[in-house]
Amino acid sequence: MALGRVQDLAAANEPALASAHFGPVTVILGDRSGKYPDGNQILLEGRDARAAFDTPRITRQFSAGLGAWFETVDLAILGHVHEDHVVGLPRLKNAGIFVHEGDLEAARSWKGLAEHYGYEPDVLAQLQPQIERDFDWQPCAHAQGYQDGASWDLGGVKVQAVHMPGHTRGHCVLWVEPIGLAFLGDIDLTGFGPYYGDATSSLIDFRKTLARVRELPASIWVTSHHRGVIQDRVTFEAALAAFISKIDQRSERVLELLRSGLHTIEALVQARVLYPPHANAVWLDGAERRTITQHLDELILQGLVERRDEQTFFVK
Ligand SMILES: [Zn+2]
Repeated sequence: MALGRVQDLAAANEPALASAHFGPVTVILGDRSGKYPDGNQILLEGRDARAAFDTPRITRQFSAGLGAWFETVDLAILGHVHEDHVVGLPRLKNAGIFVHEGDLEAARSWKGLAEHYGYEPDVLAQLQPQIERDFDWQPCAHAQGYQDGASWDLGGVKVQAVHMPGHTRGHCVLWVEPIGLAFLGDIDLTGFGPYYGDATSSLIDFRKTLARVRELPASIWVTSHHRGVIQDRVTFEAALAAFISKIDQRSERVLELLRSGLHTIEALVQARVLYPPHANAVWLDGAERRTITQHLDELILQGLVERRDEQTFFVK
């Protein structure tokens, strides 16, 4: 076809962009292996159809050749919805856009995305123009919902959605056969650890997901951010174990702050559990609040913390 093979375009037209190729799958790495706010782009070329997984900011850097290829994909399958995963959607005028039903409204409208984040109204009012500027954000009203187990046969390469919530309500791993590649999305195995700071995020679900993701019989794992591509199970399992340990470190931090005399959620939010003291973003307190609340709930269930009244918490 006149557009050329994506592998050739990525190699010849984008010398500045790092890429990896696994048969019909091309991974184009964003800045610093897709460190937020960038991300890694997966492109698939089957006999019958071409697809993109998510559409991060790296798509802004595509040359004319690769940009034309991207803009004519038949479908974009989103592993989940956040501002940094839907950047290229406005360029896909004729593609089918598929999103797990748990994240669907977040793709379709600002109201849906605002409820997905769940931050305070004044924070959301500041956030909207920021993500329109930084992530080219637009609602995608024609996005269609899919369910756990949904599959797409591209011709010689098949994609299946495996619902793995926690980061968001609809977060899925996208599983590619026959090559055994798992696109992990924001189960991103970064040093930061799992993010479950939004309204539809769930620490309980993320813990279950982290146990299940280990069982996938993959030989290649691709994350949206920073880690990029992992091609051996030993490295994957070590990264996964370190990622999981961040959750327990946060629980320890909450206990330590409670013991130090901070007993309200707002005091814990100001002391920071998730982010360093110098970090600054309009949504940051909201993410801390949601995260800390879930850790307190878990610590109460474990019998380590008691709630004296609606506002105050103590170590038992
Ligand atoms: Zn995300």
